Amino acid sequence: MATINDNYLKLKAGYLFPEIARRVNTFAQANPEAEIIKLGIGDVTEPLPQACCDAMKKAVEEMGDRATFKGYGPEQGYLWLREKIAAHDFQARGCAIDATEIFISDGSKCDTGNILDIFGKDNKIAVTDPVYPVYVDTNVMAGHTGSVNEKGEYEGLVYLPITAENNFTAPLPSEKVDLIYLCFPNNPTGATATKEDLKAWVDYAKANGSIILFDAAYESFITDPNLPHSIYEIEGAKDCAIEFRSFSKNAGFTGTRCALTVVPKSLTGKAADGSDVELWKLWNRRQSTKFNGVSYIVQRGAEAVYSEPGQKQVKELIGFYLENAKIIREKLTQAGLTVYGGVNAPYVWVKTPNGLSSWDFFDKLLQNCNVVGTPGSGFGAAGEGYFRISAFNSRENVESAMKRITEKFKV
Ligand SMILES: *Cc1c(COP(=O)(O)O)cnc(C)c1O
Repeated sequence: MATINDNYLKLKAGYLFPEIARRVNTFAQANPEAEIIKLGIGDVTEPLPQACCDAMKKAVEEMGDRATFKGYGPEQGYLWLREKIAAHDFQARGCAIDATEIFISDGSKCDTGNILDIFGKDNKIAVTDPVYPVYVDTNVMAGHTGSVNEKGEYEGLVYLPITAENNFTAPLPSEKVDLIYLCFPNNPTGATATKEDLKAWVDYAKANGSIILFDAAYESFITDPNLPHSIYEIEGAKDCAIEFRSFSKNAGFTGTRCALTVVPKSLTGKAADGSDVELWKLWNRRQSTKFNGVSYIVQRGAEAVYSEPGQKQVKELIGFYLENAKIIREKLTQAGLTVYGGVNAPYVWVKTPNGLSSWDFFDKLLQNCNVVGTPGSGFGAAGEGYFRISAFNSRENVESAMKRITEKFKV
């Protein structure tokens, strides 16, 4: 009889988004005339930049012509794309990242999960709380945790609370941890990390032989010139950090799929015999074996992000969502709510008023204003008492939702 990976049975049932859908459906059935506006989802709404569409159309034509047709590409991605990324995203910011240290993939979600393939089973793992659920669930699946408690915390993981009390900066753990997931600008809180914040982490990692898994999916939303876009802007990070980036949120590739992971050649981990092994070699081996590269067409689309029109169009796209975030911040503040984030990130993190729980606030917003957001408690125990509003929507929807909240929401 075939047995299963029992670790999957430890996973909390997909609770957050199904529960949101259940409550919205119940409300919609009881109030068929209500026009519900959804500001809950972390998905982009605006179409692809024209430069990316043009490049992909051209690539489709090449694929249909015997003279320019391409079969399997390199598992690591085409060098022309990796070189553009290295130059624009890293070298231009003073980070000595080489094109060969960049691995193209079909998403950061998969990469942040797959990276666990190259690490041992006994690492002590730290995540922030609240957190992007993928980091936690992939560790559960890999058997790196015990069971879950009633607050949603898994035995064996180290949770680092990020709340208003610590200005949403991840505190260094009091114990020694081996792998640390950090995401800045942060999903869900919209918080950012300064160079000093990241330096503290790099120093900690170097002192403890830990590896930082740095998710920079939202770096393009950074408008403050003093904030770092990459962890490699911090001296020493090449010896202790892997960085994940994606074209999903900057160029609207959530449905097109292209991302990248940076594994510097100077990074090492310990083998069972005590020797130091280059992580780059392991990740290269892993990708070459289990992955066959991203479509040529999509990689040409991603390359167009770095063209002059592409850069301009991406900037406009980000500017559009950031203006939404600004409207959300201003209107919610006007409605008497305390808000965080939403300046260098597409998420506004709202403190629920009068000690309401995240779910009570969800229900109130749905009933009074017909607006849907995401309860903070769904991202972790320390998210209780908070609520995420996403700026990924049309201007019209954002404006109507905010009008309803300022007019009808009673704190
Ligand atoms: C959206 C998002 C990503 C991007 O994931 P893709 O698989 O590349 O679409 C990565 N990390 C976080 C925290 C995100 O919110």
